[in-house]
Amino acid sequence: MPMYDVIIIGGGPAGLTAGLYNARARLNVLLLERLAPGGQVLTTDSVENYPGFPDGISGFELMDRMKTQAEKFGLKIQSEDVTGLELSPKRKAVLTGGGTLETKAIILCCGATWKRLGIEGEDHLMGKGVSFCATCDGPFYRNQEVAVIGGGDTAVEEAIFLTRFVSKVHLVHRRDKLRATKVLQERAMSHEKIEFIWDSVPVKILGEKGVEGIELKNVKTQSVFRKNVQGVFVFIGTLPNTDIVKGLIRLDENGFVVTDDNMQTSVRGVFAAGDIRSKLFRQISTAVGEGATASYAVEKYLENFAG
Ligand code: NAP
Repeated sequence: MPMYDVIIIGGGPAGLTAGLYNARARLNVLLLERLAPGGQVLTTDSVENYPGFPDGISGFELMDRMKTQAEKFGLKIQSEDVTGLELSPKRKAVLTGGGTLETKAIILCCGATWKRLGIEGEDHLMGKGVSFCATCDGPFYRNQEVAVIGGGDTAVEEAIFLTRFVSKVHLVHRRDKLRATKVLQERAMSHEKIEFIWDSVPVKILGEKGVEGIELKNVKTQSVFRKNVQGVFVFIGTLPNTDIVKGLIRLDENGFVVTDDNMQTSVRGVFAAGDIRSKLFRQISTAVGEGATASYAVEKYLENFAG
């Protein structure tokens, strides 16, 4: 069985950057990705805050360029579902549906997954009006009314995007102040198609074969009321994809991977970068920087690897 120098798990901005650097350093590196590389950025219509693209760039195009660049320098990308890890100082095994792979080092770039509301109707109406991706599903709601849940960057950005198609976006937030960046707030607040429903949380998504409405509760007055909408877009944050490392490496109280400044986790030879890490700010630009740091830390680790 071949022994890789490093296996990168996850092909978002952090993984592709680590792969680019490690391939250029001529390491025997393999990147594993469940589906196609790109990560959550793929669902972003326009990325406006990644430096170098003053007019913005679609999430799909940005990730396609990152993948092409890494592959140009020899990064091998394989489609595999990683099911577990075995971590010992000299040998690390990555267990996949297609067999076991051996490596000296691992970089975890598994990212995060959208959080669910956990309310009645959410599961049953998933794909029938309940969505986690405005870019994918927005065009289905032409001239209809939709609700967007959340007050962070994602919710506000996607609400603005949805105005291209829908007649109205009801932006439902559990407080009376948005968490989103000021420039996004200003854009949303001045948009004629966006209406804010403050201090409110969804309690039930209504409908049988498709979404017909949403039941909301005002958390200050406790009053319950209904909005008739045909779509519900949920953007209430993300949960780290850490199933394969639970019990193996140190996680913070919210389940994100703890690393030092060099992206080293609590297990030597296992590094982490991007949204899976415990940190202040989850951005494409921070993920890219961490991917580069992790790749360099791997090179230093391998220089001292006893084998
Ligand atoms: P986020 O910043 O964690 O925001 C989640 C939002 O959902 C918050 O407003 C939160 O309310 C609300 N929320 C959480 N749980 C809820 C629940 N159970 N019911 C109702 N509302 C709930 O998540 P995000 O917007 O997905 O952003 C994640 C990270 O990616 C952030 O660091 C963000 O800056 C970054 N990001 C950046 C951009 C950009 O720069 N263009 C775009 C997208 C994402 P509270 O405010 O009350 O906590």
